[in-house]
Amino acid sequence: MPSDLVIVYHRQPYEEVEENGKTVLRENASPNGIVPTLKSFFGRVSHGAWIAWKLADDVQNPGFEQKIEINDVYGKYSVSRLPLSADQVREFYHVTSKEAFWPILHAFKERYNYDPVDWQNFRDVNRRFAEAAAAEAAHGAVVWIHDYNLWLVPGYLRSMRPDVRIAFFHHTPFPSADIFNVLPWRKEIARSLLACDDVGFHIPRYAANFASVARSLFDVDVTERVKVPEKWISEGTALTERSMPAVLSFEGREIALSVTPVGVDTGFIDTRARDPETERRAAEIRAGMGDAKLILSVGRTDYTKGGVEQLESFERVIEANPDLRGKVRLMHVSVSANRNMAAYEKIQNEIEQVAGRINGRFGSLDWQPVALISRAIPFSELVAYYRAADVAWITPLADGMNLVCKEFVASRVDGDGVLVLSEFAGAAVELGEAVSTNPFSHRSLDRMILAALDMPEEERRARMERLRASVLSNDVREWHPGTIDLPDAGALIPAA
Ligand code: UDP
Repeated sequence: MPSDLVIVYHRQPYEEVEENGKTVLRENASPNGIVPTLKSFFGRVSHGAWIAWKLADDVQNPGFEQKIEINDVYGKYSVSRLPLSADQVREFYHVTSKEAFWPILHAFKERYNYDPVDWQNFRDVNRRFAEAAAAEAAHGAVVWIHDYNLWLVPGYLRSMRPDVRIAFFHHTPFPSADIFNVLPWRKEIARSLLACDDVGFHIPRYAANFASVARSLFDVDVTERVKVPEKWISEGTALTERSMPAVLSFEGREIALSVTPVGVDTGFIDTRARDPETERRAAEIRAGMGDAKLILSVGRTDYTKGGVEQLESFERVIEANPDLRGKVRLMHVSVSANRNMAAYEKIQNEIEQVAGRINGRFGSLDWQPVALISRAIPFSELVAYYRAADVAWITPLADGMNLVCKEFVASRVDGDGVLVLSEFAGAAVELGEAVSTNPFSHRSLDRMILAALDMPEEERRARMERLRASVLSNDVREWHPGTIDLPDAGALIPAA
């Protein structure tokens, strides 16, 4: 059945688990991820489709159904699973996307690794996603493509299906031409993105950077500029823009650039945060702290998250302020998502080294300054830590959005707690009331965490009230494919 909405997202929209020797499909463990939000859009159309990949030992003969039909609380939709071999996944995802694109997207030129890229494989995989989307889309359907590992899909799809409306959303930052143009495939990628009807970003800066890239490579005009709404202007922070390009024109077509910062599921988090079991657990965590303050840091193990820089700051602060010893603890959660990749293993080792050094230098039998957690904490438990923490210390060097800081704020139903946030997280443009810190500056990192620990209750509550107003006004349900008309996802995400 042709679909009115086709979502192209590299992962399948559920988890596959083995039960009694059979594969069953389960809702994703992370209830707050974007997958449920995306699926909720299927409730608005008569039939939807989702395109993803699935690992196959033999691509020609994968041994699983390549297309399945689902009818669940979200709506009726098919899932096309493109069989990819382990080699294809490694090349397309771990090498090209993570070793070449990821560092460039986050402006780490020195980590960029071009040599191992098999560009033809990247093209082939992207072409297959485009073919699958073309096969599912009804005439004039909306095809919503997600993230940089599918950068070439819009170009292929446009040549196969000129009738469809194509939206593309970047979940990462988008760098300026100075950085993006390091990629030797820059023209092919930018031309593909210019085949979209709408190219979406978290914040105005990334849209502006994309326009700069497009103009550096092609005869592209900015035909409309708009003022940035006040809610996205955070005075004096690094990522704020005052105006932004809204429409580009290229080869007789118009391409909208849209800004839709992803929010969190505020209702779900609120319910979780007020749950008596969460309250009990939070009280237990606090009791275990004695009169020490709890600083909480949560992120993936990735050089972009600045974990090492943060721990080094904590070491300097403890060294320079003996009165803090025994009076503060840092819970540093750093979860590895890409265990087999050398770059991530190295960061993990560095984090373990610095944390071990701090505990060795300053710790005692009664007091461990750093609790390093490398395993993923289930979301319901994380909310208890959000509730128990005095300070959330979120200091990425670069981050497309950062949901952890929004989850922390949404969890603080008590109205207390301090958020210290890097000015290089996309969320910083929305959260001007956070204590803003520059993770490239030792002085800024050290001073701002000290300021947060010292902040009087009145100021903490005043800031938190405004932070909550901002986070609660941009629930994940507000998210949509930019200027492309799709009915509001509204109440379609099932209640917790
Ligand atoms: N998260 C989690 N358990 C952990 C650490 C992280 O459930 O132990 C979740 C966290 O709640 C958040 C997500 O992982 O929803 C991380 O999203 P974010 O946008 O902050 O960073 P990303 O990893 O997408 O760069």
